[in-house]
Amino acid sequence: MLIDTHCHLTDAKIVDVKKTINEAHNAGVEMMFLQSTSIEDSRRAVAIAEQEGLYATVGVHPEDIDNVGNVEEMIAELEKIVGGSKRVIGIGEIGLDFYWDKEKKTKEKQIQIFSAQMELAVRLKLPVVIHMREAEEECFEILTKMGTLPRGEFHCFAGSEKFLKFVLKMGFYVGFAGNVTFKSAAGLREILHKVPLNRLLIETDSPYLAPEPVRGTVNIPANVKIVATAIAKELALDTQKIEEQTGKNALCLYSLDIL
Ligand SMILES: [Zn+2]
Repeated sequence: MLIDTHCHLTDAKIVDVKKTINEAHNAGVEMMFLQSTSIEDSRRAVAIAEQEGLYATVGVHPEDIDNVGNVEEMIAELEKIVGGSKRVIGIGEIGLDFYWDKEKKTKEKQIQIFSAQMELAVRLKLPVVIHMREAEEECFEILTKMGTLPRGEFHCFAGSEKFLKFVLKMGFYVGFAGNVTFKSAAGLREILHKVPLNRLLIETDSPYLAPEPVRGTVNIPANVKIVATAIAKELALDTQKIEEQTGKNALCLYSLDIL
């Protein structure tokens, strides 16, 4: 089953949401998991996800922490949104990102907001979608300190081999997006070979990271087919096998196989 496990259909770059969803269905995409980056965005994603084949995750992204005043209030709002819809399947996307903050001025706030959402996921028994860029050490510390970890995935994996080993050991799944097709991504493709097939997820991160050969365009969930094909080629497997296995993995992680 072809599933785009990570797309941002609330993004302004997606001009016609209905058309984008139809295009995905026509390309054989059976499910789409809509990600959120803020409280407001979570409400919008959940509203769009109120239809067959669509699900949403709710959460505050590390690049959206400026608008968070009180963390407890933020958690209460998220919990309210989760309780208000059956389409919510996880907490995401959340995480740490020091790519845009090399001096780590936001470190404390990022860690506070990430940790609070991780704890919320544990409490609500929901899986997490983690965004981690240039924050391996901090992420390592948070995850090892937590008594109970939620289930979840590291989406659009951007870590080292050492970090990959750690997240696999912790039971996480690992997502790959369109950037795995980029000429410059030889290192990422090497990492891909080290992910067990039963932990692999595929995604577009639409509208970002459009894969080759459509790189530079507004990425859409229909392009997850290109990602599946590229990953299959890299691993010398049939595209159908990749679609089947990654689909199974996604259904299992998000408990959609028992619905
Ligand atoms: Zn994303």
